[in-house]
Amino acid sequence: MTNKIKGSCLCGAVTFKIRDDFQAFNFCHCEQCHKTTGAAYAANLKTAPGNIEWLSGKELIKQYDVPGREIRTVFCSNCGCNVPYVNHSRTWLIVPAGSLETAPKNTGQKQIIFWPERHEWFDHMGGIEKFDGFRE
Ligand SMILES: [Zn+2]
Ligand SMILES: [Zn+2]
Repeated sequence: MTNKIKGSCLCGAVTFKIRDDFQAFNFCHCEQCHKTTGAAYAANLKTAPGNIEWLSGKELIKQYDVPGREIRTVFCSNCGCNVPYVNHSRTWLIVPAGSLETAPKNTGQKQIIFWPERHEWFDHMGGIEKFDGFRE
């Protein structure tokens, strides 16, 4: 029996549960994921579309379909945080890994995708100094 993981948006209005049973863990560096996350890449888990139980806030969810692509950006309309969604051809549930409250164990294969589209500055992250919080 697999464990269920709780997830939520930033404001806490949208909550859900997902079985810890994923087929892949994609770190996507495509240009659209740069925009939707505002970051270097999206960290998305893939699982079967039926593998989610919505607990609250479903009515707050809004979406934007990226033209010509399988991906959407789906978010809580109160806080703007990305939440899980089913892709355009309804084959996968895409789960933003950061929306989960505990780390998944059965992630499936971890893979970096759309690598050639990565930001040039991402190649220089390795040697950067690290701090516990904001630097004073
Ligand atoms: Zn929210
Ligand atoms: Zn992407």
